[in-house]
Amino acid sequence: MTAGGRFDERRRRAGRAVAEAGLDGYLVTPGPDLRYLTGYDALPLERLTMLRVAPDLDPVMLVPRLERAAAEAAEGIAGVQIATWSDGDDPYAAAAALMGPGRYALTDRTWAVHVLAFQEVARDTRLVAAGRALPPLRAVKDADELSALERAGAEADATFEAMAARPFAGRTERDIAAELAELLRANGHDTVDFTIVGSGPNGASPHHDASERRIRPGEAVVLDFGGFAAGYGSDVTRTVVVGEPPDGFEDVFETVRRAQQAAFDAVRPGVPCRDVDRAARDVIAEAGFGERFIHRTGHGIGLETHEPPYIVETNESPLEEGMVFSIEPGVYLEGRFGVRIEDIVAVTADGARRFNEAPRDLRVVD
Ligand code: ZN
Ligand code: ZN
Ligand code: ZN
Repeated sequence: MTAGGRFDERRRRAGRAVAEAGLDGYLVTPGPDLRYLTGYDALPLERLTMLRVAPDLDPVMLVPRLERAAAEAAEGIAGVQIATWSDGDDPYAAAAALMGPGRYALTDRTWAVHVLAFQEVARDTRLVAAGRALPPLRAVKDADELSALERAGAEADATFEAMAARPFAGRTERDIAAELAELLRANGHDTVDFTIVGSGPNGASPHHDASERRIRPGEAVVLDFGGFAAGYGSDVTRTVVVGEPPDGFEDVFETVRRAQQAAFDAVRPGVPCRDVDRAARDVIAEAGFGERFIHRTGHGIGLETHEPPYIVETNESPLEEGMVFSIEPGVYLEGRFGVRIEDIVAVTADGARRFNEAPRDLRVVD
C-alpha cells in the first residue's frame, strides 16, 4: 500500500467507527491521533488546528493561515480538504460552521481552552471523549509500524547492554539517567521520553525518576527507559544489582522473571487482556508478593508510550494479531528495593513475539 493509501484507509476506518458509535464525526486536534490519520506533526498551540472525519463526508482540516504550507506538506494529507482561518478571526465559529450540529468524538488530549471555546459557539454540538466513545483505532499495528517498533526495541536493548557494561557504584542516579539518554540517541533514537533510575529504596517507587542519590555496592537498581525512533516508541526495564544482591533479592527477582514469562506465554489472539495480567499476577501472588505488585501488567505502545490496549484486570477485550504492548510485572518492597522486568511484545497469529531481547537473567554490574 502507498503511504497516501495507508492514511486514506485509516481515515475510512475511523469514519466507520464513528458511524458504528452513532456519532456524527470525529474531531482531531494536534497529537498522535492527527499524526496517525494525516501524517501531520503539528505542534499543539493556542491557535486551533482541527481535523474532522465523518462517515459520509470528505475529511476536512481547519488550520491557522500561517500553518497551511506545513499542513500541505504532511505525508498523508492527500484527500484532506484544508480550510484556513487568520489571526483575528474566530476559529471556533469557523470550526462550528464546518461541523454542524450533532454528537462528535473529540481527541482525549484536546486542550480545555479549545473545548470550552468551541462549546460556547457551537451550542448544538455535543462532544464526547474519543477514548470512551470509539474503539482504539491505533491498537492494531500494520507491517510498517511493527518494524518501526521492532527497531526502537533493538535500540533500547543496545542501550541497556552498553549501560550494563559501565560502572554504577559511587555514581548518582541522575548521572546514570543522563548516560542512558545519551546512549539511546547514539543508538538511533530521535528523542528520549523518560529515564527512570531507581536505586535501593528508590526502586520501590515504580515511577521514581532519577535523583542525586549515590548508588552503593550491594544495591539493586531499576532501569526503565524509552524514547522514539522514526515516530514509534521504546520502553524497556531491567533490574540490575551492583555486586552482591541485597537479602531476599534473588527470590523476588526470580518471581518477577517467572511472572513476566507466564504473561508472555499467555498471549495469543482472542485472549482477553485480563488473562495476560492474571497470568503474571498469579505467579507473584503464589510467591507471597501479591500485595507488592501495585500496578497493571502492561500498556500498549506506538505513537505514544502509553496507549491501548491496557493489560489490566478489568479489561475484557480480546487481543488481536498486530497489537503491541508491554509486559512489566514488578514487586516493590518499601524501604528496600524494587524489581521490574519489562519487554515490548507483539501479538502474532499463534502467540507473541518480543521486541526486547536483552537478557532477562540477573545481571551483576560494577
Ligand atoms: Zn510506566
Ligand atoms: Zn517502562
Ligand atoms: Zn512501560
